[in-house]
Amino acid sequence: MNQKHVVVIGSGFAGLSAATHLATSKSCRVTILEKNSTPGGRARKFEHQGFVFDMGPSWYWMPDVFEDYFRKFGKKPSDYYDLVRLDPSYAVVYGKDRILDIPANLDEFKSMLDQLEPGAGKQLDKFLAQAKYKYEVGIHDLVEKPSRSLFEFTSPGLLVDMIRMDIFQSMAKHVRKFFKSEEIIRLMEFPVLFLGETAENIPALYSLMNYADIALGTWYPKKGMHEIIKGMVDLAEEKGVEIRYNAEVEEIEIENGIAKRVRLVSGEKIDADVVVAGADYHHVDKHLLNPKYSNYSEEYWDKRVMAPSSLLFYLGIDKKLKNLRHHNLFFDEPLGPHADAIYKNPRWPEKPLFYASVPSVTDPTVAPEGKENMFLLIPLAPDLEDGEEMREKYFNIIMDRLEEITGQEIRSHIIYKRSYAHSDFKSDYHAFKGNAYGLANTLTQTAILKPSLKNKNVKNLYYTGQLTVPGPGVPPSLISGGVVAREVMKENNL
Ligand SMILES: Cc1cc2nc3c(=O)[nH]c(=O)nc-3n(C[C@H](O)[C@H](O)[C@H](O)COP(=O)(O)OP(=O)(O)OC[C@H]3O[C@@H](n4cnc5c(N)ncnc54)[C@H](O)[C@@H]3O)c2cc1C
Repeated sequence: MNQKHVVVIGSGFAGLSAATHLATSKSCRVTILEKNSTPGGRARKFEHQGFVFDMGPSWYWMPDVFEDYFRKFGKKPSDYYDLVRLDPSYAVVYGKDRILDIPANLDEFKSMLDQLEPGAGKQLDKFLAQAKYKYEVGIHDLVEKPSRSLFEFTSPGLLVDMIRMDIFQSMAKHVRKFFKSEEIIRLMEFPVLFLGETAENIPALYSLMNYADIALGTWYPKKGMHEIIKGMVDLAEEKGVEIRYNAEVEEIEIENGIAKRVRLVSGEKIDADVVVAGADYHHVDKHLLNPKYSNYSEEYWDKRVMAPSSLLFYLGIDKKLKNLRHHNLFFDEPLGPHADAIYKNPRWPEKPLFYASVPSVTDPTVAPEGKENMFLLIPLAPDLEDGEEMREKYFNIIMDRLEEITGQEIRSHIIYKRSYAHSDFKSDYHAFKGNAYGLANTLTQTAILKPSLKNKNVKNLYYTGQLTVPGPGVPPSLISGGVVAREVMKENNL
């Protein structure tokens, strides 16, 4: 049979998802071309003397999205990895003597809120009822839309839904309608940080993230987040997808508005009937195409609000640590000045908030016996200079606080240390401005206002991943691959 050849650029969640969906069509064969030597993009892993580090995502939220993904191919997540629900879901550190364990159980969580603010448990019921509705419409309907035309959003039912979902109100205002306690407000505003902006600039639609957090829970795939990628790669290959590593695309060659082939850095040329770009959108648009075929100008890209970049540390510790959970959010300094340093006046923050993940608390396979695997993350403005001296300065700033708050020496027990920041995101993933999480989900960068999943100048070139619809994060990237695959199939009779 004369199959069409679909070339997918990049083996992140979005590229793998797009390729696997496309491979279900008998009329095409699919090849993924990946620049790096291992799959997963920002969700790669690396190992060092018994420590297994997830390089990027560590929070497994929205388990239903993963179930839906595997179900489409007659599978379940448990065919590939074992999930455990974390309890406590995570810890929030407000100060040395103020560490809140967030219980997985809803009634216990409500009791905790009542202690912070009398009546807040009841308020949570009302808040969550709305958030559930938003989650159901948002995750099961809105995010599945290719967002190529306003008409997709004009059915009367959907318009009513969108008004009910508060897309024009900020998350910050929405939360304050329900709660007064500053600690509760910070807790409720934390999940939208995943969307790359502060609660002031994120539509209240995204209280759906609180439903994901509180009602659906925080999960962990045993052996680490990379197990999801491993499962997706197995599934893709089972469906016939060919994955080529160390295969960096240097140019998409276009003839008369049609992508004909891709040229690799090695000089090899690979014919294509359709190209789906899962690499960072800006890189594809501005570096892999002749400028006359770009979807957007440099000026357009410069005006986008990028989600933050990050300074990361992967640490191997030669002892077991105390007073730390699997996920720990250090909110012991105010968010305002740090947010200002990310979004308004880009600079290194004076007093950074940070996140510490210690997966070996849950999973003995990610560190040698008696040792601890630790991952530290400071969110930062994109495009900062990230030299060794600066990285070290910030390492010491957060280590001072970490040691003081948890009451133990950590630095002197570090037997492995690797840092990772903007310049690494650029060299490893061609990340625009060294972004970590793609494009922020602000109101003016939502749905049809996001970079389009279709190139308007090249008939058979599509985009997927965290810089296009529906947005940043693992579940949206999985969904993005499915959405683009459906568009490709429809428009190319596959
Ligand atoms: C530190 C960090 C923490 C995060 N934490 C979470 C979390 O806890 N939970 C969550 O849900 N999300 C989290 N995220 C976000 C999530 O990881 C991303 O949204 C998601 O992985 C993006 O997937 P993607 O497929 O769009 O892009 P990528 O993973 O970047 O995949 C793109 C791929 O394209 C390849 N590529 C680039 N250029 C070329 C080229 N020219 N030729 C061939 N290949 C190329 C890259 O090597 C890469 O493999 C985190 C991200 C980071 C960085």
